[in-house]
Amino acid sequence: MNSPEPFIIAGESIAPGTLRDVAFPITTMATGTASSLAVRVLHGAKPGPAVFVSAAIHGDEIIGTAVIQRLARTLDPAVLAGTVMLVPVANIFGFITHSRYLPDRRDLNRSFPGSAGGSLAGQLAHVFYREVVARCQLGIDIHSAAIHRYNLPQIRIAAGNRKLVELAMAFGAPVIIESPLRDGSLRDLAQKHGVDMLLMEAGEALRFDRLSIETGVEGVERVLAHLGMIEADDGLSAVGIPARANRSVWVRSPRGGVVQMVRESGDPVRKGDVLACVSGLFGEEPQEMISPLDGIIIGHATLPVVHQGDALFHIAAIDHPERVGAQIDTITEAILASEPQGNAERLLDEDEVV
Ligand SMILES: [Zn+2]
Repeated sequence: MNSPEPFIIAGESIAPGTLRDVAFPITTMATGTASSLAVRVLHGAKPGPAVFVSAAIHGDEIIGTAVIQRLARTLDPAVLAGTVMLVPVANIFGFITHSRYLPDRRDLNRSFPGSAGGSLAGQLAHVFYREVVARCQLGIDIHSAAIHRYNLPQIRIAAGNRKLVELAMAFGAPVIIESPLRDGSLRDLAQKHGVDMLLMEAGEALRFDRLSIETGVEGVERVLAHLGMIEADDGLSAVGIPARANRSVWVRSPRGGVVQMVRESGDPVRKGDVLACVSGLFGEEPQEMISPLDGIIIGHATLPVVHQGDALFHIAAIDHPERVGAQIDTITEAILASEPQGNAERLLDEDEVV
């Protein structure tokens, strides 16, 4: 097999079979400190596609940072076919302030394509897109739920794209959600330029949890193996077929007060099932929250103190929820058992719902 060319980035030449950390200057902060976007490039000894894995495009959604740290330990450019670019923290500003947003209160994931002379968010989006996304054929962008919320590990893909369904199935997260893309998002821009994207949602903002991290690490490795970039490792657990949905609903608290949750993420529910009970400060006037449909809970609030109207459950519409729920249990057990190392509506982002 032909040896690939060196990978040229940030004025540096990365030889096949080696890795390099590069930093793209973004701006100077109010204090005058320079800030830059950190990218690790693993340039494989053999030719192959280029794939990026990014985390914390919302600065407080740090699950992917843990996933990328694990990948950085395990991926070896000497045996890699193609190139992997790791971006452990895309929103470098929100990351240090534990915030979803940037200091200019913009959402990086609504700021693409951005421009060199634009806002802080626009400049960061511009550099991230030009230097990372545009060089790749596939991206895996890792998010989590908002603060005080948990998401069952899931892959979200653009609706109606068979190649993405195939890659999402290879990833092996318990649930796949297909939904239209939103303007200004990274996935929207990437799709327009022919870069395939998987978006992983898992876990809670500002927290690490094992299921989310293991799902992410194994999922990325499975996708790389599916593309022939790494060997299909025996260490990867065999997982079942993920559940698929293209519609989801949020269920909101009927009153303010204190919640006792009856169900949680991963649970199958039938229309009419009790999800939780919300009562007053003395436990008075309890009101039950009822599932409005058959499905699987893919996200839930973790904070029991609620206002009327707070979104407490996110349910994906799925037929035969018990059977699918059992499948999901099998998948999550398989992931945790491994050694630690169309009519679709556009899916709302957490900050638009909470
Ligand atoms: Zn996010």
